[in-house]
Amino acid sequence: MPAQLIDGIALSQKLRAEIAARAAALTALGKQPGLAVIIVGDDPASHVYVRNKVKACEDAGFYSLKDQYPADLSESALLERIAALNADPAIHGILVQMPLPKHIDPHKVIEAISTKKDVDGYSVLSAGELMAGLDGFRPCTPYGCMKLIESTGVNLRGKHAVVIGRSNTVGKPMALLLLQANATVTICHSATPDLGLYTRQADVVVAATGRRNTLTADMVKPGAIVIDVGINRDEAGKLCGDVDFAGIKEVASHITPVPGGVGPMTITMLLMNTVEAAERT
Ligand code: NDP
Repeated sequence: MPAQLIDGIALSQKLRAEIAARAAALTALGKQPGLAVIIVGDDPASHVYVRNKVKACEDAGFYSLKDQYPADLSESALLERIAALNADPAIHGILVQMPLPKHIDPHKVIEAISTKKDVDGYSVLSAGELMAGLDGFRPCTPYGCMKLIESTGVNLRGKHAVVIGRSNTVGKPMALLLLQANATVTICHSATPDLGLYTRQADVVVAATGRRNTLTADMVKPGAIVIDVGINRDEAGKLCGDVDFAGIKEVASHITPVPGGVGPMTITMLLMNTVEAAERT
């Protein structure tokens, strides 16, 4: 039987309606959630991402501030602006769109954001909180993947989850969140010699490599849940993920499509973190 589609668009709409209701309740108390998005330079893709984030904020009833700077903005000016936003009570979340121009150290910038406003969950302190099982902000993409897995109704306790990819923003936090949900977790990466050996044992596979066809049907245990984080283009220029969707949907029990799976959830979880940040103040 073909796999059930995990519909990231439908789940996002449901969660965004809940977030909007929480935002309205906060606004009624004089505490409208506020997100500041900073963009430096003129990378076209970054501008599209920022536009989408600002629109999603407005649709959810947030106060949204877009700070746009030319590519020659100095690092010290950017750090000063972040310090001002850290102190601004109308702002509950701060996001700096990556990549930054080469002369600006992204680590310095991320670490300058107050942990209380680090709604991307990228700072070392936020990563440490996740590692320690404390209540910090979870990075949006893996947080969204957890919601997608939850939506299948499958309890992760005792299940074997394999994460393919070990980046600080996706693979590593994904593994920690699965571990927190009581899965047994294996992390694979480009130096893993026989990827299929691990994925064939997995009840859940999360693929986050940025390489097409990293996972094919022969590498998937029948009935597994497959979450595809990757964003790639095929030879025809069509958007596709890291997994062979057509083949795997005949083997898996649940699978996320690309587009329409993990992608919409990332912005939704940014909104979720921001409303949570406002509720905590
Ligand atoms: P990175 O390039 O930072 O990390 C990729 C990871 O995949 C690395 O750990 C790498 O291993 C591993 N890898 C690469 N090739 C293979 C392979 N053949 N077999 C096993 N592991 C491999 O990417 P990100 O984590 O930032 O993103 C991953 C993908 O997810 C990208 O396509 C990105 O565009 C997408 N993405 C999508 C989002 C969304 O909202 N849908 C949000 C964020 C990312 P090693 O460490 O050894 O190099």
